Amino acid sequence: MKGINKGLINSEQIARELLDRDNFLLLGHIIPDGDCVGSLAALKLGLESMGKKAEVLLQDQVPEIYRFLPATAKFRHEWSDDINIKNVVFIDCSELARVGDKIAANLNSSFTTINIDHHATNDLFADHNWVEPGVAATAELIFAVLKDMQVKLTVEMATALFCGLVMDTGRFMYSSTTDKTMNVAAGLLKAGVDINQVRINLFESKTSQEILLIRLALNNIIVSDDGRIAWITLPYEEVKSIGALGIHPESIINYTREIKGVQVGILFREISPGIIKVGFRAKGSVDVSRIAGKIGGGGHRQAAGATYEGSLAEAKETVLQLVKDVLH
Ligand code: AMP
Ligand code: MN
Ligand code: MN
Repeated sequence: MKGINKGLINSEQIARELLDRDNFLLLGHIIPDGDCVGSLAALKLGLESMGKKAEVLLQDQVPEIYRFLPATAKFRHEWSDDINIKNVVFIDCSELARVGDKIAANLNSSFTTINIDHHATNDLFADHNWVEPGVAATAELIFAVLKDMQVKLTVEMATALFCGLVMDTGRFMYSSTTDKTMNVAAGLLKAGVDINQVRINLFESKTSQEILLIRLALNNIIVSDDGRIAWITLPYEEVKSIGALGIHPESIINYTREIKGVQVGILFREISPGIIKVGFRAKGSVDVSRIAGKIGGGGHRQAAGATYEGSLAEAKETVLQLVKDVLH
């Protein structure tokens, strides 16, 4: 698989680099999603199967729904000097800052850095950048690199990658899903993924707090007068009052896009007072990664995000104006 950019730019080259080296630190992004968690788990297991040391470090906790993947129990959440690191691999991170401030503060130039990602907005921050914007999930890239490393794909690795694919493709229904994605999915099923176990853990194990959060989201959904924009607001105090501060379901924002005629859906989630995580989803031709980019974020054409510092009211005013400017 060929990449777009600088350094080692395809899976064969990355595979050779990983095989030639040892002592890896694998990093993912804050508020990790299924693609990030699954890709990290599979790469850790793959490297370990080749006799190498690989630690995963995530600033935030692994969401409950992914904890059935056994490797996630070994993920670390704090920097520790006892980790012998020579090489840092960034997974599903479009910018270095996506790893989180506490982890970024410990990174230094003595490490060789490798960036494996699928965001078009990736700024190629590492020594080696293998970025494939046409690919639906980073999990697809990890599948390719494990194959090129001649790693024997175990059920555990395959299940982790399958979770990544399912979550980043909207259960294989987003336009990013290609025949190649389906071929990867077929390879994973062939390796023994239990699709029933995956579905139950990812979609049929919601906690009552998550249901309350969905109720709050649906209660707070607004559609613009022209019907082309829908947004959900989740204020910190309201989320706190239902005990759902730590829950970030990837599906909540989808209610906006599910409305007929809506072209851009937005989620304003006040993750702490004055810090607003803004999620964007597009249906049709609007490129929301460009809108997210205007407030310091990024992502893909049809799914993007950003962090806005300020009040919820300001975030809404600024972002809705940016969206209206694009639509008119
Ligand atoms: P989310 O709405 O969090 O599911 O994110 C949608 C897409 O936008 C994902 O591909 C994220 O990696 C990306 N994204 C989310 N937040 C940010 C951010 N603050 N900066 C850059 N990209 C982001
Ligand atoms: Mn991600
Ligand atoms: Mn991804």
